[in-house]
Amino acid sequence: MGFLDRLFGRKVAEAAPTKEKTIEEAIAEVECPHGAVTPRWDSAADMGKTELVSAYVCEACGGSFSREEGERMGAAAADRLRISEEGRQERMGN
Ligand SMILES: [Zn+2]
Repeated sequence: MGFLDRLFGRKVAEAAPTKEKTIEEAIAEVECPHGAVTPRWDSAADMGKTELVSAYVCEACGGSFSREEGERMGAAAADRLRISEEGRQERMGN
C-alpha cells in the first residue's frame, strides 16, 4: 500500500502544472474566428484598392494578417453568410 501511495502521489505531482499562465497565453488560447477582418492601407491614397491592401486587422481580437490571409478569412465569412441566407430562403419556401 505504501509503495502504491508513493507511486500515485509522485505521478500526480509530475502531472500538475507548476507554472502560472500569463495573461497573454490565456488570451491566445481563446479561439477567434476572425470574422471581422478589416483591410488596412499603408498610404491613405491607396485606400479602397483591394490589390494595395497592406494588411488585414481583426476587430475582435486585434490580430493582424497578411493580405492573402485576410482575403481568405473574408471569403470564409462570406461563405458562412451565404449558407445562412440559403437556409432562410429554404424555410421561407415552405
Ligand atoms: Zn480575430
